[in-house]
Amino acid sequence: MSDFAAQRAHMVEHQLRERGIDDERVLAAMGEVPRETFVGERRQEMAYADAALPIGSEQTISQPWIVAAILQALELKGGERVLEIGTGSGYSTCLLARLTDHVVSVERHAGLARSAAEHLRACRAQNVELMVGDGSRGVPGRAPFDAIAVHAAAPKPPPALLEQLAEGGRMVVPVVTGKEEMLTAIRRRGTELESIALSPCRFVPLIGAEGF
Ligand code: SAH
Repeated sequence: MSDFAAQRAHMVEHQLRERGIDDERVLAAMGEVPRETFVGERRQEMAYADAALPIGSEQTISQPWIVAAILQALELKGGERVLEIGTGSGYSTCLLARLTDHVVSVERHAGLARSAAEHLRACRAQNVELMVGDGSRGVPGRAPFDAIAVHAAAPKPPPALLEQLAEGGRMVVPVVTGKEEMLTAIRRRGTELESIALSPCRFVPLIGAEGF
C-alpha cells in the first residue's frame, strides 16, 4: 500500500467512521479519491490532516469530516443530477462524480476553476460540468436538481437554489446566524421545506447576489 493509500484508509476509519459517518458509499468514495491530488504539491504531506487546508485565492479545501457530512446528508443513491456551489480544489466535485451520474459545479474564482479542471482530469472524472460565476443564483438552465451542495457559508439558504431543488430533493448549506454557523440540510416536499441542523461548522463566505 502506498503511503497516501495508508493515510487515506486511516482517515476513513478514524476521522470519518469513528465520528459517525456510516454511508458506505461515501466512505468507499473517500477511501478511493486521492486527496493529495487536490491540495497542491507543496501541501501533499498534509493532505490527510484532520483540517481544512489553504488552496490559494484565500480559499480552503474543507476538512475531510465536513466533506463527508455534506455528502452523507445528500443521501445519494446514484442516478441523481447534482448542483455544487464552490468547486474550490475540485475534491468534493470528484467525490460527487463517483456518487452520482451528473454534477454541475460552479466556482467564482476562474483560477481555482482552472486548477480544479486539471485535478478532475487527473482523476478521470468525466460526468462533471464546471462553470465559472456566481453560484448563489444556481444554474436555472440546468434545473431541477435532485441534490444541491453549497460549500460556502450563506446568510440564509439562497432562495434561487431552493427554487431549483426537485421534489424530494435535498440541499446542504452552511447558514450563518449571528456568530454561529450551522451546516443545514433542507428537503423539499411539495411547497414545504423541512430543515435539519447537522453540525456547527466554519466555511468561507458565499460571495454573491444571494450570499454576502
Ligand atoms: N468544495 C471545495 C471547497 C470549497 S471552499 C473543495 O473540496 O476544495 C468554498 C469555495 O466557494 C471557494 O472556492 C470560493 O471561491 C467559492 N465561492 C464562494 N462564493 C461563491 C459563489 N457565489 N459562487 C461560486 N463559488 C463561490
